[in-house]
Amino acid sequence: MWFDERTIDQIRADLVADLLLTGAPVIDPTLDAAPGGLGAIRATAQITVPVTTLTGVTSGGVELDGIAPVDPATARRLAGDAPGWDRVMTDPVTGMVLAVDRYQPSAAQQRYLKARDPHCRFPGCRRPARLCDDDHTHDHARGGPTDVRNLACLCKRHHTLKHATDWTVRQLPGGTLEWTSPAGRPYLDHPPQRVVFVPGDDTAAPF
Ligand SMILES: [Zn+2]
Repeated sequence: MWFDERTIDQIRADLVADLLLTGAPVIDPTLDAAPGGLGAIRATAQITVPVTTLTGVTSGGVELDGIAPVDPATARRLAGDAPGWDRVMTDPVTGMVLAVDRYQPSAAQQRYLKARDPHCRFPGCRRPARLCDDDHTHDHARGGPTDVRNLACLCKRHHTLKHATDWTVRQLPGGTLEWTSPAGRPYLDHPPQRVVFVPGDDTAAPF
């Protein structure tokens, strides 16, 4: 038989943490027909994790912001469960925050991308945007920002091709992508024009 070795106080603390982090309020407009209620309340927890601790290279340095240190395993679990997390770049000497950025594009950025890139941006591919990924042209893991000037729609096949082969790509002003094949040959892919002129009746000769 398995016995819970936690003390009563530890169980109480764990229950409160579980309710705060994962519990759904009884009156939840996303679940019930009744408007308003506690469902509008969403908790936000901020933890600071050195990226080397998140990847398991080092341990320590994790802090529930302004509250207390957190063990690396808990930090990794919270990061894994989070719907999105911010990357905060700090000056290594002064510790000043230089930039804040999130891997997942915002809803507004996604709407802009779907309007600019109605299909995959690999030259010649017409896979529709709804079946594409929002790809960081310059990899986020290598410092590429989550900015529409560094994002483009790629279908699964060409997203994989970009990461798994010697094809490279960089983004030029105006959303133009400059692809370079493994043989070193460049290919430009411009965002499609969204204004299309079609001949109408007034183009007929007036005589
Ligand atoms: Zn494609």
